[in-house]
Amino acid sequence: MIQIRDLHKHFGDLHVLKGINLDVSKGEVLSIIGSSGSGKSTLLYCINGLEAIQQGTVHINGTDVHAKSTDINKLRQKLGMVFQQWNSFPHLTTLENVALAPRIVKGKSKEEALELAAKQLKHVGLGDKLKNYPVSLSGGQQQRLAIARALAMEPEYMLFDEATSALDPEKVGEVLDTMRLLAEEGMTMICVTHEMGFAREVSDRVAYFHEGIMEEIGPPQQIFEDAQSEHTRKFLMNVR
Ligand code: ATP
Ligand code: MG
Repeated sequence: MIQIRDLHKHFGDLHVLKGINLDVSKGEVLSIIGSSGSGKSTLLYCINGLEAIQQGTVHINGTDVHAKSTDINKLRQKLGMVFQQWNSFPHLTTLENVALAPRIVKGKSKEEALELAAKQLKHVGLGDKLKNYPVSLSGGQQQRLAIARALAMEPEYMLFDEATSALDPEKVGEVLDTMRLLAEEGMTMICVTHEMGFAREVSDRVAYFHEGIMEEIGPPQQIFEDAQSEHTRKFLMNVR
């Protein structure tokens, strides 16, 4: 479980997150929506400890992410992260790309790591691209490679930060389908997304962020059809 309590984040004078309270249970799919600059990415970075926080707490399975005594590298292994831009190693095949972290970070044997990598590449529909280099993959395939790399670390949680927004429109669907598959398999996911169809159909809950505040959170139907906040309604009118 991820528990966020009264989380505040400042960048200098800029108060980016203003007291976020949020619980994400195992197996839940949460979509985070909101306008540019509302603090969505920053929240993900505070969850995985890439950003320090100024007030409040984030606990993952009961461990305080920002406590000095926490082994953040170990804790981070529970969190798979997929960003807008894929960042694979160009000189390694897809199979080697996916096998790398299990070998180096988890200390798996070469055989074990390669087997796991092949399994995850098949999982995301890249079973026929094991020997390809990233440059020979389409944008959607590269993003699925990024998902396979995260999954190969056998995370308990997956954090997606606009995983489809750098893609050509016709490549978006294949990545969303992969995310949908993970959701159906019971993966716990926090997805910052501009894909309202995905947020609506796949999420258990949708959170709307406005200027560093989580203004509204609820089941998709509530957010999309009966939003309580004026800001949420305006935002949804503009993205539809
Ligand atoms: P988008 O939809 O455009 O990705 P977002 O909701 O993810 O937006 P964030 O990236 O979390 O927004 O940024 C929130 C605010 O914090 C913005 O005003 C941004 O300029 C600022 N910010 C983010 N990262 C830093 C940083 N490293 N240093 C200073 N300011 C930052
Ligand atoms: Mg962002």
